Amino acid sequence: MITPAGKECPYYYEDFNRGRSIQECRLLESTPGGGEYTPDLCEKCKVPRIKMANACPNMVLEAKVKRSFLGLRRSIEIVAFCTKTLQDVPEPEIGCGQCHLEFPVFRTSAEE
Ligand code: SF4
Repeated sequence: MITPAGKECPYYYEDFNRGRSIQECRLLESTPGGGEYTPDLCEKCKVPRIKMANACPNMVLEAKVKRSFLGLRRSIEIVAFCTKTLQDVPEPEIGCGQCHLEFPVFRTSAEE
């Protein structure tokens, strides 16, 4: 679904049919202690970019609302984890790199 910031995000949900006014971030909702969603959070969120760059089915994301130093601004902090290698993924746009090694095109002739 397209977020209020105009980007496609698999976790965004809205429903304005028949007088409803529902806007949700289902990634924040699924993260324990994720925080309260407001539509302005989508503006600087990295998730649409991460999902466009990396479609790895083994990578799971968690999101938390983070406050700025003075507590005036809110933003989304993303943490990624690989369920295959059981490690954190510091650069979710790239991934942990393990799956890339399994593609034959990335193997050297000595490994085959
Ligand atoms: S805050 Fe981020 S993850 Fe949540 S709906 Fe907006 S763009 Fe998607």
